Amino acid sequence: MKVTVKRWHAIAQWQWDIGRTDEHGDAEEDVCGICRVPFEGCCPTCKVPGDDCPLIWGECSHVFHMHCLLKWIGTVASKQQCPMDRRPWVTAERKVTTNGS
Ligand SMILES: [Zn+2]
Ligand SMILES: [Zn+2]
Ligand SMILES: [Zn+2]
Repeated sequence: MKVTVKRWHAIAQWQWDIGRTDEHGDAEEDVCGICRVPFEGCCPTCKVPGDDCPLIWGECSHVFHMHCLLKWIGTVASKQQCPMDRRPWVTAERKVTTNGS
């Protein structure tokens, strides 16, 4: 029975590895630092990724699902700081290019 578990883990790890961007160095991980779900997916609260579950950028360059960040900021423990670097959270101005050409 242990063999079955091991093989399952091997497959899961392999899939996880190719999803990471660590090898590129300067690239941030493409996962939300709060819920660890990839940005192309949605936060645990939502069921459908996209406009209903937007991303939010901080001036510290960290990116989160907006819902995750707002939930985090809403907690007393957050002290309104970025959960990744503990700097005061400032939402970055960022042009959202949703206009079709
Ligand atoms: Zn998230
Ligand atoms: Zn959401
Ligand atoms: Zn940050």
